[in-house]
Amino acid sequence: MIKFLDLKSVNSKYESEIQRAFARVLNSGWYLLGQELSAFEAEFAKYCQVNYAIGVASGLDALKLIIKAYGFGVGDEIIVPSNTYIATVLAITDCGATPVFVEPNADTHLIEASNIERAITDKTKAIMPVHLYGRVCDMDSICDLAKENHLKVIDDAAQAHGAIYKGTRVGNLADATGFSFYPSKNLGAMGDAGAITTNDEMLANKIIALRNYGSQKRYYNKYKGLNSRIDELQAAVLRIKLAGLDEDNAARRRVAHLYNEMISSSKIILPELPKDQGEHVWHLFVVRTDRRDLLKQYLDDNGIASQVHYPIAPHKQQCYSEYNKLSMPIAEKLADEVLSLPISPVMSDQDVKRVAEVINEW
Ligand SMILES: *Cc1c(COP(=O)(O)O)cnc(C)c1O
Repeated sequence: MIKFLDLKSVNSKYESEIQRAFARVLNSGWYLLGQELSAFEAEFAKYCQVNYAIGVASGLDALKLIIKAYGFGVGDEIIVPSNTYIATVLAITDCGATPVFVEPNADTHLIEASNIERAITDKTKAIMPVHLYGRVCDMDSICDLAKENHLKVIDDAAQAHGAIYKGTRVGNLADATGFSFYPSKNLGAMGDAGAITTNDEMLANKIIALRNYGSQKRYYNKYKGLNSRIDELQAAVLRIKLAGLDEDNAARRRVAHLYNEMISSSKIILPELPKDQGEHVWHLFVVRTDRRDLLKQYLDDNGIASQVHYPIAPHKQQCYSEYNKLSMPIAEKLADEVLSLPISPVMSDQDVKRVAEVINEW
């Protein structure tokens, strides 16, 4: 069986270092908001070439805390891709704001300034680009559009740790960026964790208070905050894995490159390649076919696991019944056609070849 993602193997490269870090944290007697988190925040900020990184409990919390810190809520509109993971939309609705769905370009799966522009109203407060599957949106045009319209750009970079756009790291492309360190992400913890990066000192200070019950000084509460932190054990794991992120991303790129070379079936649409390979970090390798369920079953029958990211667009989810009647034909078509093939930093060339051969025989 070729697994979709073998997290044990991904982490085994770091095993002895992680064991030592666990012992270090255990013996420190300090388990929250300590040295490991401060060190990780400094290291992640440096990696992203940005002034502030703030560790929080999850990717969803990261996005939610940014929106909350900006004070966006009831009556405010936030623009979001129609084909994103549900968490991007949950962050908006949790704050009481209104998501305005924008269709992606079907080839890149990403939203673009031209479509975003048409969705801007006098209630729009922010644009939330999602660097879906590890590919960066065209941020120059999106940020120009935001500037012209006095909007904030809030990046969802949960799938794009380490990706680069025109020489700049994701994390330093927007007013604020939310990351997830869910175990399967390119930079994954051994549990839930997330982070916010920004160059905005006031925003950073507010988020530092908000993640800690809204308190800057113990037992004095300036804001109605949350409890949303990265614990010391997860921070210690993330420090170790951050040091290997570029190497892990390069290994993913290699898998993607091999797939692109070897899959020749005319029944499959391969992911479009950005001109600069360095930009893409291949969180997922997503192909398309109008017979997706048949292909998935066929791969299963041949001992190859695959997944669908995502089978139902957010506006069609049961929890968003108020948007179920919206028509988002591109997102809906993609939801019916996308299939993610196995990809990871530890996938062997032999397994990649096997997947490609089986697909070519379909
Ligand atoms: C994983 C993910 C999130 C949510 O992150 P969690 O840490 O699981 O809360 C948000 N947006 C996107 C695009 C994601 O892939």
